[in-house]
Amino acid sequence: MEKLKNYINGILTTAYSSNYINDYNPATGEVFTMIPDSDAEDVEIAVKSAEKAFESWSETSAEVRSGYLMKIAALIKRDLDKFALAETTDSGKPLWLSKSVDIPRAVKNLEFFASAITHFSSESHLTDNEALNYTLRQPLGIVGAISPWNLPLYLFTWKIAPALAAGNCVIAKPSEITPLTAFMLSEICIEAQLPDGVLNIIHGYGNKVGSAIVSHPKIKAITFTGGTNTGREIAKVAAPMFKKLSLELGGKNPNIIFADCDYEKMLETTVQSSFRNQGEICLCGSRIFVEKSIYEKFRKDFVDKVKKLKTGDPLDENSFLGAIVSKQHYEKILYYIDVAVKEGGKILCGGSNIKGRGRCEDGWFIEPTVIEGLSYNCRANQEEIFGPVVTITPFESEEEVLMMANSTEYGLASIIWTENLTRAHRLSSKIKSGIVWINCWMLRDLRTPFGGVKNSGVGREGGLEALRFFTESKNVCVKLKN
Ligand code: NAD
Repeated sequence: MEKLKNYINGILTTAYSSNYINDYNPATGEVFTMIPDSDAEDVEIAVKSAEKAFESWSETSAEVRSGYLMKIAALIKRDLDKFALAETTDSGKPLWLSKSVDIPRAVKNLEFFASAITHFSSESHLTDNEALNYTLRQPLGIVGAISPWNLPLYLFTWKIAPALAAGNCVIAKPSEITPLTAFMLSEICIEAQLPDGVLNIIHGYGNKVGSAIVSHPKIKAITFTGGTNTGREIAKVAAPMFKKLSLELGGKNPNIIFADCDYEKMLETTVQSSFRNQGEICLCGSRIFVEKSIYEKFRKDFVDKVKKLKTGDPLDENSFLGAIVSKQHYEKILYYIDVAVKEGGKILCGGSNIKGRGRCEDGWFIEPTVIEGLSYNCRANQEEIFGPVVTITPFESEEEVLMMANSTEYGLASIIWTENLTRAHRLSSKIKSGIVWINCWMLRDLRTPFGGVKNSGVGREGGLEALRFFTESKNVCVKLKN
């Protein structure tokens, strides 16, 4: 069986412990590869190499750094099919999705920040003709990047690209559940001749490698995407060390549907925003609120459509939903369906696991599930499930739906469907989330600020926000008159 390696100081290497962790294919339930079970020793070696690399990387021109990122992007693009198959094997997501979204977006992240850094500028302030203030934007040094399993290469590159572009060296840890494309990225970086130590990719568990990165005194900033509880643990360690922190955490996003919406467009998109990637996207709208006058019609039409979605082998291009990423997560989702039923929820479709066929007999599959009849403040409507499970709830007024939408501890994204633009803008300003989509979902522009409020996180990624995060501003004041 293939064993993956860490990428430290420009070479592929085994973990200091020589131990390995099993990596499963969720569609078959089988172990298909193993990853290094790394720890603080490996992080220490990586920090030393990054420290050395920073001396020259931080001095290279933006154009040179941009060139490396472009080269890496081009090589991933060349191998797009290979990367897509790897992502699907590791995560259980449909192959068509890896091919059309995950890997192309990883390429775009690299290209975007390769270009953005060549346009990045800083401010100057002339102070009453007496002094000139100019602000330098300098790289931080070594930064840590820790990412989750749901959009593996997509989110990994979303962090690494701006950090490298801004002149930092990076110690990155992909999720131990989906490490394969991060390993392939190491091979690509070697092929692109990225200087040794500029990027180090270390595999392993969060409570070993992850916490060693977070607590290392020479790592100046942490960019983390993952669960809210993990974010809290990271903040506990990193905040007293005065590290810069960007935390992109969980969500429980409302999808608010008014009777005056463009119904067909809403219905089509709501199927996507509920169940794309098995509902394992932090931006999915898992709480659907529908204006009472169209509630009955929506329930029927939506459930009819959801019942037609095929769940099965991710390699089958007709599968809209593939496998759930891990056995543990699969059990968590089934547990929450049970909680919802105990809380009085009525399952309108789905509601259980399904047995895969052929090679997928032992895979982890759950039918897309729609539940109604729950109060807005029950556990199933307040806690993040992060799977193919949505609830539908009727509402009578804008005030009522706003109260329900804002009732959770989270505040990542919201979706609003209405043709009444005054109402859409009014609600957008009152809704407590970092992102609002009006009459659309997942329409992304990489220049926009991305992130959540409340327990969905701290800080913003994307565009200039990311380049500002990965640089320290230093103001220089020059007196112009004697
Ligand atoms: P997780 O928090 O369990 O793990 C995320 C990463 O953190 C993994 O690499 C893990 O190994 C590491 N980790 C775990 N414990 C750690 C510790 N103590 N110190 C340092 N690192 C540690 O999250 P997950 O289950 O992989 O991902 C799902 C979660 O991610 C969901 O809550 C989802 O909403 C969230 N998410 C948020 C966004 C966003 O942009 N806000 C995007 C995608 C996913």
